[in-house]
Amino acid sequence: MHKFSYNFCNVFKPSAVSCSTLTAEGRDVKHYTNGYIGNRVLKLNVGFLLAAGPGHIHQTSLDIPVIRVSEDTDLEYLRGTLRLSRTQEGVLVQGDLHAGFEDVCARCLETVMRDEVLQLQELYAHPPSDMTEFSIDEDGILDLAPLLREEILIAAEHNVLCREDCKGLCMDCGANLNEEECGCPEDDIDPRFAQLKALRGSEE
Ligand SMILES: [Zn+2]
Ligand SMILES: [Zn+2]
Repeated sequence: MHKFSYNFCNVFKPSAVSCSTLTAEGRDVKHYTNGYIGNRVLKLNVGFLLAAGPGHIHQTSLDIPVIRVSEDTDLEYLRGTLRLSRTQEGVLVQGDLHAGFEDVCARCLETVMRDEVLQLQELYAHPPSDMTEFSIDEDGILDLAPLLREEILIAAEHNVLCREDCKGLCMDCGANLNEEECGCPEDDIDPRFAQLKALRGSEE
C-alpha cells in the first residue's frame, strides 16, 4: 500500500536553493480503513530552513496519493511543487498544487472527479505571531494540512458538472436524463417562466 518517505535529493542549486521529494513511498504512515493515508505526511520539518536563515529557499515536489487532509477532506492525490522561503518572519509557502477529489455534478448528482489547482501563498510565522493565521511550532514543524483544507474548501465552493451538456434530472420523476428518457410529459419551458405560463393559461 501507500508508503512514505522524505528524501532530500542533495541537489543544491546556486543561491541557497535546496530540494527534496515528498511522496508516500516508504514507511510509517497511518492508513485509514478506506486506504487513505493520514495527514502526518503533510507535517514538514523545516528546522533546517529556519536554521539556514533568511534568503534560503527549499523546494519540495509532492506526489501523494489518497490522503485524508482532515476529517472532512479527502484527496485522491496531491501533486506539485512547493517553494518554502525562509524570511525574517518565518517561512513563506508558495506553490500550485493539483488536488484531486470527489464531488457531485450540480445537475445530475453523479459522482465527479475534480482536479483543482490550489494556489498557495501563505506565511507561516516563526516565532508564532498574532499577525498570521498559521505558524511553525517549536519543534520546527510546518503543518500544511490546515492551509490545504482551507484552500480545498474554497476550490470546492463553485459547482461542477459531470459534462458540459449534462441533461440533469427530470423535474417530475427524478430520472437521470443522461441515462434514460423517462417519458414524463415534455415541458421545455424554463421553470422560472412556468408561473407566467400558468397565469397566461388562466387568462385564455
Ligand atoms: Zn451531470
Ligand atoms: Zn421524468
